[in-house]
Amino acid sequence: MDELACQDLVERVTDYLEGVLGPDETERVNRHLAGCDGCTAYVDQVRATVRASASLPPEVPSAQAEARLLDIYRTWAAERQGR
Ligand SMILES: [Zn+2]
Repeated sequence: MDELACQDLVERVTDYLEGVLGPDETERVNRHLAGCDGCTAYVDQVRATVRASASLPPEVPSAQAEARLLDIYRTWAAERQGR
């Protein structure tokens, strides 16, 4: 099984946190997180955001939530490159 790239993890993170990722994919994410501090921090951030947005009304379009997550990712990626 191929190693996940950071971008692959980012694409799966919402499913991962919602627990709807299959067992194989979840295992791949866990394995990537074990060796990648950046993504571990990213997942923590997304988890906090998801928790915060859980109180939003259900009619909030999920595209908006996804844009928000993408925003976090871009910030994180930019910070990472700046180092
Ligand atoms: Zn990573």
